[in-house]
Amino acid sequence: MFKKCLTGLALAALLVWTASAQDAKTVVGNASKAMGVDALKTVQYSATGMDFALGQAPNPSSPWPKFINKSYTRSINFETPASRVERVRVQGENPPHGGGQQPLVGEQPQTQTIIVSADTPWVQQLEIWMTPHGFLRAAATKNATVEAKTIGGKKYQVVTFMGDNKAKVNGYINDQNLVERVETWIDNPFLGDMPFEAIYSDYKGAGGAQFPMHIVQKQGGYPIFDLNVSDVKANAAVNIQPAQGRGGAPAAAAAPASAATSEKLGDGVYLITGGYAAIAIDFKDHITIIETGQSEPRGLAVIAEAKRLIPNKPVKYVVNTHCHIDHSSGLRAAVAEGATILTHQLNKAYLEKTLSLPHTLNPDKAQQNGKKPVVEAVGEKKVLTDGTHVVELYHLQNFGHHDGMLIAYLPKEKVLLEADGYNPQPTTATPPSPPSPFTVSLLDNIRRLKLDVQRIVPVHYPADNRVVTMAELTKWVGRPVTH
Ligand SMILES: [Zn+2]
Repeated sequence: MFKKCLTGLALAALLVWTASAQDAKTVVGNASKAMGVDALKTVQYSATGMDFALGQAPNPSSPWPKFINKSYTRSINFETPASRVERVRVQGENPPHGGGQQPLVGEQPQTQTIIVSADTPWVQQLEIWMTPHGFLRAAATKNATVEAKTIGGKKYQVVTFMGDNKAKVNGYINDQNLVERVETWIDNPFLGDMPFEAIYSDYKGAGGAQFPMHIVQKQGGYPIFDLNVSDVKANAAVNIQPAQGRGGAPAAAAAPASAATSEKLGDGVYLITGGYAAIAIDFKDHITIIETGQSEPRGLAVIAEAKRLIPNKPVKYVVNTHCHIDHSSGLRAAVAEGATILTHQLNKAYLEKTLSLPHTLNPDKAQQNGKKPVVEAVGEKKVLTDGTHVVELYHLQNFGHHDGMLIAYLPKEKVLLEADGYNPQPTTATPPSPPSPFTVSLLDNIRRLKLDVQRIVPVHYPADNRVVTMAELTKWVGRPVTH
């Protein structure tokens, strides 16, 4: 009897599931009809607005910094499928505040092309599947389910299918059968299972289909795009060709780490290159590493090289210059190692929170070993010493790139490690006029602190591996050396 009951329950559950699957088909069908999905093979729209640099906020409580999109044209072929964005960007934060290669001088034209093939990563494909029409096309082929939800007093049919990265893709369809919002989660080496949302509003009809005139995309909780569409051409003749040479598709979030190489800067002090630069110091009973790079693999490689150079000692401290995504993604390796992270006090709570985020979509070492971050705050100055080696950490004042930026100065070696104050260009490049306010501020701080610097180690190390001097820095600022 008991057994029979269970079978009955299982059958009932199956029936419910079947019913909701049918409902999903109906909901997707109705929305596709209302939005003109079936007849829409291509679309081209023009817009103006803004894009924002993910993970490059000027401090942990600000949104990602903005850039103006003077022009923006997006072409999509839903049948290939393929997408091309052509845009012209200009500086948006005035005065410059935050990262993302600010200040942007003049106009920056950019093109991004994605042609979906069997080996196109899912995250890149999402550029198409997260558009309203793309979402409905994908939902129709991917065993979608549906659930009724009321959010803020508004009723939605939420259609869900599983993305190829094993994260749900949810589309919110309103009572007019229009897709108002699509959300999913993607792996990010720093932000973990990062929310990725697209919000569509101000729908208008064009060529038998409905299009949102306002598009906002968010990643990690803040906008990465905010576009006002001015013109839409349904079934325009679009011809999307593979990008010429390198750089058509967006760079993978975590680029493979090249082999770490090293150079002795002084007794027990090593420069680690082969990616974002780092310095390892052989303290009496432990290793301290300054910066662990742009990705978890790079962080692991830096730690491995430091341990090879300084055997049989634990990595006790890792110094983080600032909490930008490209300088903090390697910190997950430091967490896995059980090292204490030293950062400016402005970044402490943010790093504690962010380095604790789940990384289930692409489990890294810290996710696997379950280690929790240990973060210690640094104020205006902190000296690390064992009586032999000395590292001085200073907080940069009036530094627009990041409000909580640390530099590391080694007084014995007269070496200064800095991030994003001066990022060396090829020797053939001409210094910008006016100079970058970040480079000017770095020089002002070096003078304020009266640091006797013989060699600068930029974390963004020069491609030709040259030794960067104060003379080079002052040349780039356009001021003579005064000390
Ligand atoms: Zn930065």
